[in-house]
Amino acid sequence: MVRFRQIADVLRLMGNKGHIRNVGVIAHIDHGKTTLTDSLLVEAGFLAPQVVGSVRVLDYLEEEQRRGITIKTANISFVHKTDGESLLINLVDTPGHVDFAGNVARALRAIDGAVVVVDAVEGVMAQTETVTRQALEERVKPVLFINKVDRLISELRLSPGDIQKRFVEIINDFNNIIEIYGEIDFRDLWKVDPSKGSVVFGSALHRWGFTLDIAEKKGIRFSDREIVEAYESGNIAKLSRAVPLHTAILDMVGKNIPSPVESQKYRLPGIWKGKLDSRMGQAMLKCGDDGPLVMCITAVKSFPNEGPVATGRLFSGSIKKGDQVYLVGAGKKHHVENVSVYMSAFREAASEITAGNIAAVSGLDSVRIGETVVDVKLDEESVPFESRRFVSQPVMTVAIEPKNPNDLEHILNALDRLSLEDPSLKTSVNSETGQYLISGMGELHLEVAVNSLKQYLGNVELKTSAPIASYRETIRKKGKLAIAKSPNKLNEFWVQVEPLDEKSLKTYGQASLSNGSLQFETFESQEKDVWAFDDQLNILTSSFRQDTLSQDVVASIVSGFHWACRTGPLCEQPLRELKVNSINFKIAASPENRKPKEVMRGMSRAILGSFLTAHPMLLEPIYKVEITVPLQWFGKCSNIIIRKRGSIQSTVQKGALAIIIGLVPVAETLSLSEELRSATSGRAFWQLIFDHWEKMPEKLANATIKKLREKRGLPTEVPSPETFVDEIRK
Ligand code: GDP
Repeated sequence: MVRFRQIADVLRLMGNKGHIRNVGVIAHIDHGKTTLTDSLLVEAGFLAPQVVGSVRVLDYLEEEQRRGITIKTANISFVHKTDGESLLINLVDTPGHVDFAGNVARALRAIDGAVVVVDAVEGVMAQTETVTRQALEERVKPVLFINKVDRLISELRLSPGDIQKRFVEIINDFNNIIEIYGEIDFRDLWKVDPSKGSVVFGSALHRWGFTLDIAEKKGIRFSDREIVEAYESGNIAKLSRAVPLHTAILDMVGKNIPSPVESQKYRLPGIWKGKLDSRMGQAMLKCGDDGPLVMCITAVKSFPNEGPVATGRLFSGSIKKGDQVYLVGAGKKHHVENVSVYMSAFREAASEITAGNIAAVSGLDSVRIGETVVDVKLDEESVPFESRRFVSQPVMTVAIEPKNPNDLEHILNALDRLSLEDPSLKTSVNSETGQYLISGMGELHLEVAVNSLKQYLGNVELKTSAPIASYRETIRKKGKLAIAKSPNKLNEFWVQVEPLDEKSLKTYGQASLSNGSLQFETFESQEKDVWAFDDQLNILTSSFRQDTLSQDVVASIVSGFHWACRTGPLCEQPLRELKVNSINFKIAASPENRKPKEVMRGMSRAILGSFLTAHPMLLEPIYKVEITVPLQWFGKCSNIIIRKRGSIQSTVQKGALAIIIGLVPVAETLSLSEELRSATSGRAFWQLIFDHWEKMPEKLANATIKKLREKRGLPTEVPSPETFVDEIRK
């Protein structure tokens, strides 16, 4: 098979850095990203020509279909020969959607150039603009593929002159994006230009294409009607032999996209916040194999019997089996178990992978997407690519249930795998109903998660609920002192809750609360009174002397606090922004009488009791919505947002497009896609990003609480404080 022939070439070329090209394909949906990727893989010998367009190689592979498992490929490496030279192409898969926590931006970090696919009929669309803007933000150089040119010929029946006019229009629109969003140093250099070979014209479906240079060499011109005639005579195969698409695309990549040695010099200052004159900075600027290892992880996949496999780009140094490395975000050291390269679905073991390349590494058990992996010698002085470890806010939840209860065990394993691969998902079990709950950042995020889950589970049948918004429970006023006893009545917990004040919010990371994300590092407590805190800004404080309690009692008190914070008394939603003051503890002397369960129960009941005396209320998640739409639909889109209890924050005009930025409650967004699509004939493109939690209007809150209680099989009425505690003091 070809792949065995290729692996030796791939490994050899890895050391030849001037010949490496790290690229990705990005596009508006349906413009042909998958079809183009497939046709490149035909050239690499990974795919038979006849299946182009019929299977999604980067997503589902023959091998995995056969074995009933899913190996989502993050990257494919292959060799392209051009002008007597060999290039090593590392093709990195970029997620198609922009909905989730920066995953697209991370994939872009691994590449130096992006082939932007634009449908010749539809032209530059809203998502073309978004993905190109994201590439420019990561200092990834765009080149252009004008696809589906066959449609101009066979469907629109344009004359050669009109076809050329259409090309000029698309190129101008595309360069306009670069003009608007490109940084001043790159803006002019990076505009595409057919005479520089940075534009390919062609058809991914029929696998032909050319740059101006190729067309000249082959003597092909639209005005000579050769292409039009190929379609009229039906001899498209001949065209594809004369000007094969992969040659055109890969030649364009070879000529216009820089090698890592060149690109790291200008990309680094834009994508990494450390000091360029530090040891780490200098090593990455050089992109040398002998520098210390610096690798940025852009994808993590879990494989049966192997654990997590992390894929990422080496910005400096090399990595091999047995190396000891330091994970900057996790603050942990690990030994590298195996190093490999992706050759389609298969990973081929490599003895060593060097700077400028993409590697797959196993053995890094605590690895997460976005992690920076460095040489252990760099541990103290290292600066990560992402300084913030975001705690995402899962604002939408689906419930899943196996049709057959015997499958519960399988579901648990699959859920573990899912949360490893995508740490922004949260999973939990509803003990009353036996349902598993998966919470994520939006409808699309959950849809993708449930699909992956189904693939991991193979034949297990699942019932899935419609997604609903997640809420938070909080309080308006200081609560009363609540005293709760443990179930055996031998321990006592005195608790009084209050809303987390502004000052504490500041102390505990308010400064870094942006996009609903919390920077944990700054959250380390300076005060000895603070016993515990969580990612919903709940804090447990007590001036009670910890050293008078045994360690396991302290641990159980803290667990009780976390337990209470996970499921509030209004409708089992997590608590938020709560300061829990523990005034006193009376703990039984004999360990027999103060077992963890007793302490946890007592403590959590005291918190929930005081909570219910503190004017509890419901918070709902609010999305920031950004809609890009041709000007004529501006009014319609704004109205849809306002009708959904939303508001418009600002509007900007960019050429013929309007960008509307607004706020809208997550609960109101379930039909948003459909409404925007039908109001604009599918011309609107939008993104939803969590913005903040907001107090719900009381009437609506009450109705929501009632509905959620019903769903969870709870009595309709919210319990009284006395249900939880033995005594309430004024
Ligand atoms: P993606 O969403 O960008 O990955 O787009 P796909 O590659 O899945 O293509 C979307 C649709 O356009 C599919 O039905 C393809 O067969 C079709 N398509 C892709 N390239 C061409 C082309 O060059 N000509 C024509 N006529 N159709 C194409």
